[in-house]
Amino acid sequence: MSFGVYVHVPFCATRCGYCDFNTYTPSETESSYAAYLDSLEWELELAADKVGLAAETVFIGGGTPSLLGADGLGRILDGIRNTFGLAKDAEVTTESNPESTDPEYFEGLREAGFTRVSLGMQSASTPVLRVLDRRHTPGRAVEAAKEAKRAGFEHVNLDLIYGTPTETDDDVRKSLDAVLSADVDHVSAYSLIVEDGTAMARKIRSGQLPAPEEEVYADRYEIIAERLEGEGFDWYEVSNWAKPGGQCQHNLIYWRSGSWWGAGPGAHGTVERFRYFNVKRPEKYNMMLTDGVLPIDGSETISDGEYHFEQIMLGLRLREGIPREWVGSGGQGVVDKHVRGGVLAEENGRIFATASGRLLIDGVITDILAAE
Ligand code: SF4
Repeated sequence: MSFGVYVHVPFCATRCGYCDFNTYTPSETESSYAAYLDSLEWELELAADKVGLAAETVFIGGGTPSLLGADGLGRILDGIRNTFGLAKDAEVTTESNPESTDPEYFEGLREAGFTRVSLGMQSASTPVLRVLDRRHTPGRAVEAAKEAKRAGFEHVNLDLIYGTPTETDDDVRKSLDAVLSADVDHVSAYSLIVEDGTAMARKIRSGQLPAPEEEVYADRYEIIAERLEGEGFDWYEVSNWAKPGGQCQHNLIYWRSGSWWGAGPGAHGTVERFRYFNVKRPEKYNMMLTDGVLPIDGSETISDGEYHFEQIMLGLRLREGIPREWVGSGGQGVVDKHVRGGVLAEENGRIFATASGRLLIDGVITDILAAE
């Protein structure tokens, strides 16, 4: 069984207007980085005793993990090595905010044993970054990716967001030029989702910003897919492209309904059929671990039905698709219909989205699950 460890770092220097992640600026939490790092080590110890599996992948996300510096992130990785253990050739990724990185940071990460870096770029357009409240300058993400490569990282991801209010097709093209100039081996591109309760949602409601137009999402996706695929990237999940060997093994664990332990405030994890989520506030997280208990706020056993639902929902967004036999008898007619319509294809007993059908895949998944 593939097994990964995810670590959530719940700190950011400032809050971006569209973000509803479990993250805290310095004025929003009393937890120091040092207290968090101590608590995290205790959680890893308790969790490793419970799970007893070595990590084949590690992913440190946030929040802004790079705020902890290479030393703090190295300490987290040592904590995982000393508790769960790292499998041979484990993939070890950390997300990083381009603004809180420099060449020494990337060199420190390499020395600590990191093999992959994921950088939040979002856009290469200054006005778009301003609408997103992102503090980095447009060129910084590309520079950071180049610094990571010079430090010896073979695997570097740049994250893009498309469909931001006021963004134009040319902004997207400019972002793609920048991504390609960085010579990375992985790109993620997600459409902007405006979450309720965020500053951006309030600005849209009050008319300060135009609402994102659903119909432009498909056009922007096509611009991105066509350009990346013309430059040697293959899509392996609807929103993710990689050069050969560059796929994110950690994310594949999620998408293949595998097992992972999620550590840190607000993290959630699934180990076989056991699913849990941690307390969100760093102060409570620290307090529970000081008392020697896992900081779990809720848990459930995943039913066969839920497991099946997730396998179809996540698996059909992958280019590799799923075995056709996973689809219940009621859904087989829907599969036939979409194979005839060219949205799905079938090969060696597996069904998967075609290149032209992938943008419609979420609707197809809903149809299949409703018919089963
Ligand atoms: S840096 Fe990332 S996690 Fe932090 S507020 Fe901005 S989008 Fe959210």
